Amino acid sequence: MTGRFSLVIHGGAGVIQPEQMTKERETAYHAALDRVLGVGEKVLSKDGSAIDAVTAAVCALEDEPLFNAGRGAVFTREGTHEMDAAIMDGRDRRTGAVAGICGPRNPIRTARAVMEQTDHVFMIGEGALDVARRAELSFEDERYFFTQERWDSLQETLRMEREGTLDDDPSRRHGTVGAVALDRHGNLAAATSTGGMTAKRQGRVGDSPVIGAGTFADNATCAISATGDGEAYIRLCVAHEISARMRFLGESLSQAAEAITLSELPMIGGSGGLIAVDSKGRISAPYNCDGMYRGWSIENQNRATAIYESENRSRTES
Ligand code: ASP
Repeated sequence: MTGRFSLVIHGGAGVIQPEQMTKERETAYHAALDRVLGVGEKVLSKDGSAIDAVTAAVCALEDEPLFNAGRGAVFTREGTHEMDAAIMDGRDRRTGAVAGICGPRNPIRTARAVMEQTDHVFMIGEGALDVARRAELSFEDERYFFTQERWDSLQETLRMEREGTLDDDPSRRHGTVGAVALDRHGNLAAATSTGGMTAKRQGRVGDSPVIGAGTFADNATCAISATGDGEAYIRLCVAHEISARMRFLGESLSQAAEAITLSELPMIGGSGGLIAVDSKGRISAPYNCDGMYRGWSIENQNRATAIYESENRSRTES
């Protein structure tokens, strides 16, 4: 079977508020998203697999310091980096996830190595790093992951905490990257990678590597990668809930994704968004905050990048 491919990527729902965004920065975000879409499209247009496409796209997002994952990851309150990542193959629901790691240049490759080279699905700490070493993945030192902007955000967050003026500006707190794809063979995959939340406690793990919360893929329904308040996404098992609504209630992808993002998450104060694709290649990218860095490509049909609501009707892109 060779159908059309669909690819959706995100660079997090922690967008810079429109009034603080400069034209230069906006252009840089669009250019980065466009470049990353091209990386995934290259795999899919050569009949490559969804799992290879989401791996390649997320690596490119991790390498891009504009986004909170890999290079450009946010800092814990102790000034360290602890990164989380997960990948899932919709063909057989094989999956791999890592939490709280620092060292591998591309945490998503470590998650994939857990999936392909161990009997486990979720690994942390030294054991996860050992998998990366055995897989001969590239490592970087702390300097590589440092960005002045993230450091300044940490200092500002800690200062606001001390002064009791902490607000919930998502651009300071949030961010994550992810990709979901349907390949020409009808297979789905999802991948998500994050530095987590600025000033998080050491040892805190968000939704991104929790299968069924921030990441999920099943050929029978959909592939999902989420971004937002991780604790709320874990409590609602967001990604699996969308898949379950499709299976058991017969809802469409956009109905299920919007019900969770626009109704259920706000009920528990969960700000954020997600990207999703179903087995027919239909896509959805709802969010309940100011915006979400995102891009999508439906082969020979529809291709764009977007940040804010005004740019298009993003709730259901297709
Ligand atoms: N969901 C991520 C986390 O909780 C953060 C984000 O996407 O903004 O770690």
